Amino acid sequence: MRNLLSIDLEDWFCVSNFDDLLGREVWDACELRVVDSTKRLLDLFDRRGVQATFFVLGWIAERAPQLIREVAAAGHEIACHGYHHHRLGYLDPQRLDADLGKAMPLLRELAGAPILGYRAPSFSLTQQTMWAVPVLERHGLRWDSSVFPFGGHPEYGIADAPLHPYKIGEHLLELPMSVVEFGGRRLPCTGGGYFRLYPYELSAALIRRCHRAGRPAIFYAHPWEFDPEQPRMPLSAVKRFRHYNNLGKTLARLERLLTEFEWGPMGPWATNVAKARTRAEQAA
Ligand SMILES: [Zn+2]
Repeated sequence: MRNLLSIDLEDWFCVSNFDDLLGREVWDACELRVVDSTKRLLDLFDRRGVQATFFVLGWIAERAPQLIREVAAAGHEIACHGYHHHRLGYLDPQRLDADLGKAMPLLRELAGAPILGYRAPSFSLTQQTMWAVPVLERHGLRWDSSVFPFGGHPEYGIADAPLHPYKIGEHLLELPMSVVEFGGRRLPCTGGGYFRLYPYELSAALIRRCHRAGRPAIFYAHPWEFDPEQPRMPLSAVKRFRHYNNLGKTLARLERLLTEFEWGPMGPWATNVAKARTRAEQAA
């Protein structure tokens, strides 16, 4: 089964963990490290012959347009991660509309293609922020991968959301992040801090378990997770562990994952799922 590879393309200082430490007004003063760390990933993907979906932050696209052109030219899919990396809970329909209004035309131009996919910063599409769905649709987005169907994280998740793709709006297909079920409990499958925390064999076993449930696994990571030299910020002990744990091991681990499993971008899968749904509806 072909799994889905996704990168949230943002720099080390854009992450929600630093919202209280590094306001948007100081971003321009931070060292831009995303070009080098993304190139590490592009080299890896090229070596393994895989293509991914890059959810690009508009603010980064504005400062590193050539990088986004390179990502697109290498055959990867460009999708949208918003402009300013505000969690949806911090926005309202008008402010999300303005945020997408800045990001979407820029990404379209750099990708040279329509932008159809979206991922909210920090998986912030929750029961409280469903107002965002019609706004995403109005911007031409056709699929979303922002719902984490998991109740165990303090800052995101919908505990009982479906695990398979489902329609979340009239025109929007939701591709929920991968979790696996154990006796009624859910565990995130792989990606981000989970991928760095779990031993490799656990991530691999959880991916296989997704397959047995008839679903591909969605992997996600950020370029800064491949940059062990990044500046360290003063976080609480729990957040510090979650944020900086195993940064030096991520690249080799991901290479192994790309070698042992089959991977591809998300958009073509979303299109196939949408077509299959339409056929099933017509047959019913
Ligand atoms: Zn992000």
